[in-house]
Amino acid sequence: MAGGKLIVFSAPSGSGKTTIVQHLLKLEKLNLDFSISATSREPRKGEVHGQDYYFISLKQFKQHIKKEEFLEWEEVYRDNFYGTLKKEIERIWAKGKNVIFDIDVVGGLRIKKKFPKETLAVFVKPPSVDELKIRLKKRKTESDEKINMRIAKASVELATAPQFDFIIENIDLDIALNEAKELVEKFIHEENE
Ligand code: 5GP
Repeated sequence: MAGGKLIVFSAPSGSGKTTIVQHLLKLEKLNLDFSISATSREPRKGEVHGQDYYFISLKQFKQHIKKEEFLEWEEVYRDNFYGTLKKEIERIWAKGKNVIFDIDVVGGLRIKKKFPKETLAVFVKPPSVDELKIRLKKRKTESDEKINMRIAKASVELATAPQFDFIIENIDLDIALNEAKELVEKFIHEENE
């Protein structure tokens, strides 16, 4: 595989990384395309197959694992598998675009390890675990049990932050968005020189 750059945004669930990634995708000069992950979880209201995720069955997911078709995959939450298909990256690079990922910390670090030069790995840090809980509750997309599962994982995820190239503290969203834009712009520019 060869081609453009890989921009990874990882963070605990509820940190605001999806908002940041969606913002960057709108900036044409960054020439980004979103890496659509495969997942075995159920779609949430409003989520579209082939746009937010490739929603597949657990059986299909396991077949992709067996055939070694994933660049990385993870059982992010119990029975909820998520992964990046190799052909997804090839699809985006074939269009001459850079790839942007919204994935968990383990997956993000795996991509950085596989493509150290091509990857910019950014960790989005929430102001605190308490704030994370408030945001997840406000979002109303998960049950209390699922929220607690996500919070429990957040502390472990926060400990991986120093392994990333950059940490963005998402206290004020506008500042975080601007910081993210500048980081990505600089990385793409530097690497192209
Ligand atoms: P959600 O269920 O909220 O959409 O995602 C749960 C977590 O899985 C988030 O941290 C999200 O970034 C992560 N995730 C999404 N796609 C992938 C993927 O392809 N690989 C990995 N390792 N994590 C992913």
